[in-house]
Amino acid sequence: MKKRILVSGGGIAGLTAARLLYNQGHDVTVIDRAKQFNKSGFLVSLKSFGVEIMDELGLTKALRKESTPSEFMDWMNANGTMIRSISYKKVNQNTSQSILITRGALHNVLYDNIKSDIPVLFDTTIEDLQQQAQKVNIRLSNGTLIEADLVIVSEGLRSSTRTKYFPGSQLEDFNLLYMGGRLSTRHAYRLGTIRTYLDIRKMLSIYPVSKEEVALQCYIHSVDDISKIHAEAPQLLKDSFKDYNTEVQDLIRRFLEGGLMFADKMGMVHTPNLVHGNVVLLGDAGYCPTALSGMGASLSIYGAKVLSHFLAQLPDGLNEALQRYNSLMQPIISKFQGNARNNARSFIPDNEADLKRFTALFGSATEDEVSRMMTDQLVLTENQLKFLPIHSNET
Ligand SMILES: Cc1cc2nc3c(=O)[nH]c(=O)nc-3n(C[C@H](O)[C@H](O)[C@H](O)COP(=O)(O)OP(=O)(O)OC[C@H]3O[C@@H](n4cnc5c(N)ncnc54)[C@H](O)[C@@H]3O)c2cc1C
Repeated sequence: MKKRILVSGGGIAGLTAARLLYNQGHDVTVIDRAKQFNKSGFLVSLKSFGVEIMDELGLTKALRKESTPSEFMDWMNANGTMIRSISYKKVNQNTSQSILITRGALHNVLYDNIKSDIPVLFDTTIEDLQQQAQKVNIRLSNGTLIEADLVIVSEGLRSSTRTKYFPGSQLEDFNLLYMGGRLSTRHAYRLGTIRTYLDIRKMLSIYPVSKEEVALQCYIHSVDDISKIHAEAPQLLKDSFKDYNTEVQDLIRRFLEGGLMFADKMGMVHTPNLVHGNVVLLGDAGYCPTALSGMGASLSIYGAKVLSHFLAQLPDGLNEALQRYNSLMQPIISKFQGNARNNARSFIPDNEADLKRFTALFGSATEDEVSRMMTDQLVLTENQLKFLPIHSNET
């Protein structure tokens, strides 16, 4: 049965869901708080199942065209000495295919693909939601009243609709400031190599996207509140890496002067049930696993596919479809959130002893061991790929 679907949040999750559901014949509208989309952000690595879903939408060619070269990961100490260099090919030997692309380019490919079919209203949010028996009445911030059979909330980590209508949900503060950005500049970095500095309570990665552009990402320990962090972020970035070599300091200075930066505090969203009546949480809004999971974008794309799969499977059973979505997603979310916690402990250690232990282990591990360390946790089971319920020993 054709449904009227409102998607609140036109990020990676929202646009993927909008396209999948439009293709199923539903009447879809997207709203977004932003006045316009921007291309800030670092890189995302689309995992094999994410690539397959993009393939189904006919988007892999466009994504590959926008993807960035990926040959080596150079892991460094804070003083600039190399811990080890690993080839991407070797690291990803156990995952069938993946695409490395900037968050902005991925988003742009999705937006280009939907914009002539699906209305996207910018500068618009949900002001009020009233659940009726089989529909939702929505008042938008632009004053419009609309009726929908289903509201998909894909507003990202700091979703205001989740906070308001899912009182059981929690945002776990990771006490890490995250900054990811891009800077147009000519540079001498080797294309295809991502350089990452490991340190105590911070981490910095530099990646040349092209001959004229560099992307930068960092994590910095901070217990400050999110409301303070935006104002403090530039100074924190400068101070945190002030003892690094002049090349790094110069790059940071230029980023702060002219880069396109995305900054937020890392947080993990826990929601006991992703469904509340005819309103459902999708992507970071419902289950942000943090960027440290290596799965933020792929998990949100997979979530969009799972949701659309059950809606197609149960055309007359919306509530059952939503509950199946929730049941399939919850164990997957736990697994990837657990993985992100482990990665935070390993790659952004709290003290000197942990840093020494990890760099010694990481520096001396065989390439196979490193590959397993970095990708074993990033797979879905056969059943999950087929959207079948999993058994407890499969997570
Ligand atoms: C500009 C930007 C840059 C990013 N850069 C990085 C990065 O460098 N590294 C990284 O790991 N992750 C980054 N992310 C987050 C990353 O995209 C997500 O972790 C992941 O892709 C999951 O996507 P999502 O669609 O659930 O959330 P997001 O991609 O965050 O999308 C959420 C969307 O909802 C909109 N929105 C927010 N609140 C409301 C509201 N109340 N009503 C309506 N719309 C709302 C936002 O404008 C945004 O378009 C970035 C997100 C954004 C928006």
